[in-house]
Amino acid sequence: MSATILDGNKIASEIRAELSGEVQALAAAGMRPGLAVILVGHNPASEIYVRGKVKSCEELGVHSEQISPPATIKTLELCRIVEELNGRDDIDGILVQLPLPDHVDAKQVLLTVDPAKDVDGFHPVNVGYLSTQRPGLVPCTPGGVMEILRRSGIAVAGKDAVVVGRSDIVGKPAAMLLINANATVTVCHSKTHDLPGVCRRADILVAAIGRAGMITKDFVKPGAVVLDVGINRVTDRAEFERLFAGNKKREETFAAKGATLVGDVHPEVAEVAGAITPVPGGVGPLTIAMLMSNTVKAARMRRVAKQPVPVGA
Ligand code: NAP
Repeated sequence: MSATILDGNKIASEIRAELSGEVQALAAAGMRPGLAVILVGHNPASEIYVRGKVKSCEELGVHSEQISPPATIKTLELCRIVEELNGRDDIDGILVQLPLPDHVDAKQVLLTVDPAKDVDGFHPVNVGYLSTQRPGLVPCTPGGVMEILRRSGIAVAGKDAVVVGRSDIVGKPAAMLLINANATVTVCHSKTHDLPGVCRRADILVAAIGRAGMITKDFVKPGAVVLDVGINRVTDRAEFERLFAGNKKREETFAAKGATLVGDVHPEVAEVAGAITPVPGGVGPLTIAMLMSNTVKAARMRRVAKQPVPVGA
């Protein structure tokens, strides 16, 4: 039996449609939400991500500004840019695109962002709010994982969830969100013993590893829900064969572009899972949708009610 495909594009467009009315209402009340994106230097991948974020703002009617300091900028100068944005009433969200150049103290820059405008949810204040279930801003990718589960009608309470990966931006917040949703959560990493055995206990398996197709069929309990956060570019022919042998569509893409995208989950997992997010088109589209959602939420929390909004709302 083949898994149900959890369509991230469809869920992301549902979220955008809901946000669109809210953006219009805020704008009509003179509170058009605004997002400032700081992109340091010229990292090609970051430039693509930032273009996607700015485009999404335009489509929704959210005001956006891109600030592009040179790669030579010093930590303190970058902090000053952030502080200026902190002080502006028309800016609800501040996003510092990572990675920053090596000589910049990224942690200090992220600490400078006003937690009320921290639409990436990386500030320790928001991390603390999440872990204590207080109103705050939740990191976009794990927030997107939870939206996929919620909007697909997948119950989380009482389920065994396994998260592979413990990064501050995906693994840890995903685990915390699942705990808050009453799952029993295990977090795995590179030192975990018997990873396949631990993963096989999962009713809900979240893969956030950064290793192409590492989660194979033998990691997955039949019928489990599998959320694949990984985005990996495959360029090696042998690796392509390991992942996509016999897949005509992928073969065409690979032949034309010399590369294709794959998650951390091997495509064969669709043969045993009950439901699975594809790559591309699964968790990825939710990340930008949740950034938009956080920007609107930040505007609502700071400007409208000055009323708390529950985490995950
Ligand atoms: P990361 O910071 O590199 O963290 C990777 C985690 O995986 C670490 O905790 C690491 O363990 C663990 N890991 C690595 N190799 C392992 C192994 N062989 N067995 C078990 N665990 C292992 O990566 P990240 O930023 O969380 O991103 C993870 C993936 O998600 C990447 O593919 C990234 O491109 C993708 N991503 C996608 C989106 C999206 O929008 N869909 C957003 C963000 C990230 P240790 O802690 O022990 O080193």
